[in-house]
Amino acid sequence: SAAATAALPPTATHCPYCALQCGMRLTPVLTGDGEVGVEVTGRAEFPVNQGALCGKGQSAATLLSSRVRLTGPLVRDTTTGRLEPAGWEEALDAVATGLARARAAHGTDACGVFGGGGLTNEKAYALGKFARIVLGTSQIDYNGRFCMGSAAAAGQRSFGLDRGLPFPLADVARTDCVILVGSNLAETMPPALRYLTELKANGGKLIVIDPRRTRTAEQADLHLAPRPGTDLALALGMLHLVVAQGRVDEAYVRERTSGWEETRAGVMAHWPEYVERVTGVPVPRLRAAVDLFTDAEHAMVLTARGPEQQSKGTDTVGAWINLALATGRPGRPLSGYGCLTGQGNGQGGREHGQKADQLPGYRKLTDPAARAHVAGVWGVDPDSLPGPGRSAYELLDALGGDVRALLLMGSNPVVSAPRAAHVEDRLRSLDFLAVADVVLSDTAELADVVLPVTQWAEETGTVTNLEGRVLLRRRAIDPPQGVRSDLEVLRELTARLAPDLEKKFPADPEEVFDELRRASAGGPADYSGISYGRLAAEDGVFWPCPAENTVSGHNTQNGRNTQDGQDGQDGQDGQNGRRGENTDSVLDGEDSAPDAPPTDEPSADAPTPEPVPGPAEDGLAGTPRLFLDRFATPDGRARFVPVTHRPAAEEPDAAYPVHLTTGRVVAQYQSGAQTRRVDELNKAAPGPFVELHPRLAARIGVAEGEDVAVVSRRGRAVAPARVTGNIRPDTVFMPFHWPGAGRANALTNPALDPTSRMPEFKVCAVRVERAAEQ
Ligand code: SF4
Repeated sequence: SAAATAALPPTATHCPYCALQCGMRLTPVLTGDGEVGVEVTGRAEFPVNQGALCGKGQSAATLLSSRVRLTGPLVRDTTTGRLEPAGWEEALDAVATGLARARAAHGTDACGVFGGGGLTNEKAYALGKFARIVLGTSQIDYNGRFCMGSAAAAGQRSFGLDRGLPFPLADVARTDCVILVGSNLAETMPPALRYLTELKANGGKLIVIDPRRTRTAEQADLHLAPRPGTDLALALGMLHLVVAQGRVDEAYVRERTSGWEETRAGVMAHWPEYVERVTGVPVPRLRAAVDLFTDAEHAMVLTARGPEQQSKGTDTVGAWINLALATGRPGRPLSGYGCLTGQGNGQGGREHGQKADQLPGYRKLTDPAARAHVAGVWGVDPDSLPGPGRSAYELLDALGGDVRALLLMGSNPVVSAPRAAHVEDRLRSLDFLAVADVVLSDTAELADVVLPVTQWAEETGTVTNLEGRVLLRRRAIDPPQGVRSDLEVLRELTARLAPDLEKKFPADPEEVFDELRRASAGGPADYSGISYGRLAAEDGVFWPCPAENTVSGHNTQNGRNTQDGQDGQDGQDGQNGRRGENTDSVLDGEDSAPDAPPTDEPSADAPTPEPVPGPAEDGLAGTPRLFLDRFATPDGRARFVPVTHRPAAEEPDAAYPVHLTTGRVVAQYQSGAQTRRVDELNKAAPGPFVELHPRLAARIGVAEGEDVAVVSRRGRAVAPARVTGNIRPDTVFMPFHWPGAGRANALTNPALDPTSRMPEFKVCAVRVERAAEQ
């Protein structure tokens, strides 16, 4: 009964949204109308968030009982053209028929599969397996390609392994200097801001690189605001100064890296004055950043979507890694390079086979040994596995061409893909589209069949947070009648399309996870020593974890290099006056930067040294810190990769004279499919806006709140103006969470990074006008 369900004990689990995966407790309660609801509270004992939740997490239960959630399948009526309620058998039969028809008429690659970085590890694993052994298609990729693919590719290239943060987030608070590149933690994952606050309270310095003075940048000791798309040049300029000032850690470079000479030679061409011309960041501020970073005993560089979502994203992240390597940071305690992954399972979602070129365990699809191993676990012939397919945008662009039918799970590309109106047209041109989701998303509205699936609190599964910590999300309440789990959907579709394979698709998540463990064994992302029992007992285990008793192990990777790297696709002089710079002028406002803050002068107090954690000191389960002994490259050395600055794929010109950059606001999540349906979040962030500098606003004659039209070569978006001195006068910003007239991704450029195949969301050229003039 409802009363009995509501009397169930609280369940310890994790948030359904971002990659921080805050610990929360769900307590079943009886609502006013006699239904069972859930009360959410932060879990103080989970070390990452220590009880703190942002507004999204606090309101996460709303959608569980929302009237807008789907509780029965929908099938498009061919007569009326409308989506109509249908039974599960009818809906599953229709999906199987749609996929089978495309395959029969056009071949196996006519079926596409599109996944998401919010799917649990089990679902991502099962989806990749379904695509390859049931459909036999190579055409599978996922929206994580839009998220952090460039950092993954750069990490693989330099370290031989990609794990977002190769150290626990707690280390950020204990280091001495952090360079935060293109991340707005204060809006994207607010509970993580405390690590930066603690860093500063401990005497550490924070440098933020961002074209906007965001709420995160306001916390910085030094904020550099480069032109969008020029942070690669900024990193090269800083490395030039490191070399010129003799601040290279020569012993580290000699003993732990390769390729330095070639990189050094390239860097020396990037004179600070040249870098100032390219980036707009004055040389004294560049020097200040170098001084802060090199004076610090321990220091780290953290990147997020800013440097990654560029058509040169892999090289941009590579430039920041080179700076970290030259100063001897990666693989040392409280130091290094890390990527702040965004989506809830952005890390695990990129490890278990839903990527176009990947097998579970972060193995390469083209590696014969990996194919043999995974095919053995799946009980199929390795030669039957297809090869690599198209990357996410390329797959979406091919819809209606040689890809005729698509199964989509956990993604909403109508809002989140670049050049979104074109992607919407491609989706409409399909012979058949099936979408599995919890709500009728903007993409589901276009589908022939919509399958309603269970939500986070109604199912058990694992996710891997931005630290590489594998976590157990537990089922807290029963799902409503009429919905099924994604795993059940895949099993039922297999029963219809390849009955002899049905038993290979269990619907029990623990059974799927145990198979995933075997499939990942020996791979770069080795989960074989992680079990549900262990996750429940230890509240998270860091991979790699090849043995059930791995506690705070070192990662040595045994010189293997079998990981998928998307190859071919994924100062403070004021502190000591050392160089006699004038600190005041160093910290003066930049010519074309956002208005300078009243005080960003650093404290002259030296940080108090803290004990450095050893590999076993904090008793974390699995492998919390990577690379302490060696990197995961064949020779155990980190690789410098020479990179050079190049313009964005689209730079401002006479017709489109302004940069557009896009991003997030605190009350919405990704495409907004879930958060736009939560009243309190909608109240806090009701719609899109265009952030622009007062000088630009005056030039086009718009005042605060008036509608502005932003026009690119791909489309037009209209939203109210937010006039602020916190953005460069040559740049406008739009959040991308909304469809309709204010859809920011109608404007963005799908130019792809040649290595990661990540689109250039972060910079394109636009013109900005009063909407009334259109
Ligand atoms: Fe959820 Fe992320 Fe907010 Fe934490 S910061 S409550 S994980 S959305």
